[in-house]
Amino acid sequence: MVLSEKYEMLRKNFRNFAETEFTKEIQDRLDATGEFDEELYAKMAKYGFTGVKIPREYGGQGADTLTYMIMGEEFARVMPVATIYVNTPNSLGAGPILMCGTEEQKQAILPDVAAGKKHIVFALTEPGAGSDAGSMQTYAVEDGDDYIINGRKCFISGAPFADYAVVYAKTDRTQKGSKGISMFIVDMKTPGISTGKPEAKMGIGGYPTSDISFDNVRVNKKWLLGPKDKGFQTALKTLNGGRLGVAAQSLGLAQGCLEEAIKYSKERVQFGRPICKNQAVSFAIAEMATEIEAARCMVYTAAQEMDAGVKDNYIKCAMCKYYAAEMANRVAYKALQIFGGYGYIKEYKIERMYRDARIFSIYEGTSQVQQMVISGALLH
Ligand SMILES: Cc1cc2nc3c(=O)[nH]c(=O)nc-3n(C[C@H](O)[C@H](O)[C@H](O)COP(=O)(O)OP(=O)(O)OC[C@H]3O[C@@H](n4cnc5c(N)ncnc54)[C@H](O)[C@@H]3O)c2cc1C
Repeated sequence: MVLSEKYEMLRKNFRNFAETEFTKEIQDRLDATGEFDEELYAKMAKYGFTGVKIPREYGGQGADTLTYMIMGEEFARVMPVATIYVNTPNSLGAGPILMCGTEEQKQAILPDVAAGKKHIVFALTEPGAGSDAGSMQTYAVEDGDDYIINGRKCFISGAPFADYAVVYAKTDRTQKGSKGISMFIVDMKTPGISTGKPEAKMGIGGYPTSDISFDNVRVNKKWLLGPKDKGFQTALKTLNGGRLGVAAQSLGLAQGCLEEAIKYSKERVQFGRPICKNQAVSFAIAEMATEIEAARCMVYTAAQEMDAGVKDNYIKCAMCKYYAAEMANRVAYKALQIFGGYGYIKEYKIERMYRDARIFSIYEGTSQVQQMVISGALLH
């Protein structure tokens, strides 16, 4: 795919930042402690990355989706968790506000999010409502000028340090399934909110994930986001963009794994010659590179079609997420195999990349959910 000079220049800048700033020390520390790196985030904010997709009038860069994809790809190529650092503010956090926030809500939240001064997270999943997010139990009832929220969300990325959360709650419990759900912008310091202990995760260390509990949390009606009872549609629309973000993250991780595998296969000598001289190894590399290229074409095309307003773009978003996530796992598996026993040792980056890849086919809709979306569109 031929990209204009503008995008190649942007790629160079993102790559340069990633290779300079995502040092081995930071990567090892984030993986070991799981703690969020505020200093790194501030640097990303300084360059405008935390608000790349947020329009200029709200303090962001106003970039298009392709730019956003290239950024996510280049960051994940070096340190996959870094893509979450930029996906959460640009997509999951700002997305619903940009889609249906009032001017007052946009002005109150977005400039600080774009500047990296405040963190906003996306709180949809619940212990009993994952793939079937519409079956949520969290509810909000009207009380004078307020809503009172009760319930519990789980697996919320960034919850332990969040300033705001976009929270989904049932406002009409007489309506079944995903109907009767509303969105709220909730200040995480509101009395009645508590976050659980960060989960000990398999990968993507450095972006803590936890529960959020709501115990009679009072939220003024001015923080209802979008029309009452119609919030779930916005969640799905937000997840379209989010899915492309995960596809770009998958693409970048796979590219990083491929480069590691190529380098190692040229250096490692067994039976008197570099292991890449064996067709079993060189063909694995050819297969990895081909799959990555296929995913790249899909992701860039879907991004451009999203900005062009192409109808039913959600199907391609699901295809991209499904294919790229599964592809990244295949590539990480093969790359680690090329490293042999060393690939199993933490000192080698490929060990972490392999663990990081595993989340891609799970969050923002599992691979099976993407298959449901794709097949549902084809078979309706
Ligand atoms: C690290 C991490 C970060 C996350 N961040 C966030 C976040 O910021 N905000 C947020 O709201 N959520 C977040 N999530 C939640 C994530 O989106 C859910 O975990 C995911 O949607 C799957 O839900 P579940 O875990 O309940 O699995 P389940 O829905 O219980 O699914 C279990 C298995 O059953 C399969 N399955 C379920 N239904 C069907 C079906 N009808 N047909 C075929 N197969 C099916 C699934 O594909 C899966 O393989 C995060 C999760 C993790 C692990």
